[in-house]
Amino acid sequence: MQRPLVLFDLDNTLVDRWGTLVDWAAEFAARHGLEDEEQAHILDMVAERTYPSTFDAIRTRYRLPVSTAELWRAYCTDIAASVSCAAEVLDDLDALRAAGWRVGVATNGAVDIQRAKLRATGIAERVDGVFVSEEADARKPQTRHFALAAARCGTVLSDGGWMVGDNPVNDIGGGRSAGLRTIWIGNGRSWPPDDPEPDHTVPHVRAAIDLLLLHSASHTRTTT
Ligand SMILES: [Mg+2]
Repeated sequence: MQRPLVLFDLDNTLVDRWGTLVDWAAEFAARHGLEDEEQAHILDMVAERTYPSTFDAIRTRYRLPVSTAELWRAYCTDIAASVSCAAEVLDDLDALRAAGWRVGVATNGAVDIQRAKLRATGIAERVDGVFVSEEADARKPQTRHFALAAARCGTVLSDGGWMVGDNPVNDIGGGRSAGLRTIWIGNGRSWPPDDPEPDHTVPHVRAAIDLLLLHSASHTRTTT
């Protein structure tokens, strides 16, 4: 039997990106002698999207005497050093693969920082494949993003699969358009009323993995 595919979003799905950024912004502001208000603004800027161009804007705005390349390198190093994936989630990823799942990561963002986080957390060695949008300029919710992620895992979208993520548009809308079943990580929010609903809503990623394990167990029972 073909191994079923599940793709996970990275930020605020497998790792707590927001919490990591809040701590980073405080440290960054202290290091560069910036006020609280400036710290809040920098947090907004990096929370939105983080590429070298983001640091170009920060450097210009706050007249920092450092190059954009240095700021970007320091950011990647600092975030990789502080981001973590819960040990239980790492064990759950192992359990999924042991149960026969093909496990991948489908994430928007810059290659440097996303790959650094995947390595530092130990996620990289627990999945079959990873696709980062910048590698081929294919961002979620584009179907091409999911197709490339599936390819990294050695499969194709026409064989179906699942997408797990916290973003209603990028992960759930995009996953559905790509022909995948979807699990939304609510993180305490309620589903936006105007968007078509996901197949399942769960409070956190461990609950999503439980659901997938249950699904594969029942599937095995009915087909053997
Ligand atoms: Mg996310």
